[in-house]
Amino acid sequence: MQDPNCIFCKIINGDIPAARVFENDQVLSFLDINPWNEGHTLVVPKDHHALLHQCPPETAAAVVSQLGPIARAVIESLGAEGYNILNNNGPASGQEIEHLHFHIIPRRSGDGIIRHAPQKTYPEGRIDELAEQIKKALS
Ligand code: AMP
Repeated sequence: MQDPNCIFCKIINGDIPAARVFENDQVLSFLDINPWNEGHTLVVPKDHHALLHQCPPETAAAVVSQLGPIARAVIESLGAEGYNILNNNGPASGQEIEHLHFHIIPRRSGDGIIRHAPQKTYPEGRIDELAEQIKKALS
């Protein structure tokens, strides 16, 4: 399952180069070409799915199961102190490449590359209302 116009499918097929760090039958991992920090790594399914909820759970599980081992290798080899896992879904979230991918972003204290958004509060009753709506959509 590939999209001939997708840049990550082209990387998976070997049609364009990438700095590959891990590969198995379902998953490929390579360095992000425009890193937020050195060692910024992407992990993608080899099948083309645009968004996480469009990806079969078994395929998503195969990708997610590699995040920890690859993150360990990234931070150990770079001497980083921590990392963020980031997964954008849809243009509103900032997703630019419409092929499911997880970012592993190595972090050091004070590097300031990700700022926490100001947290909001709920008016009385709204949190329970929303929980009910989401539970209904799940059933
Ligand atoms: P997103 O905004 O979550 O869709 O992230 C897409 C990421 O893919 C960006 O961080 C880009 O720098 C990265 N990217 C785009 N083209 C390539 C490429 N040819 N090789 C490696 N990374 C890429």
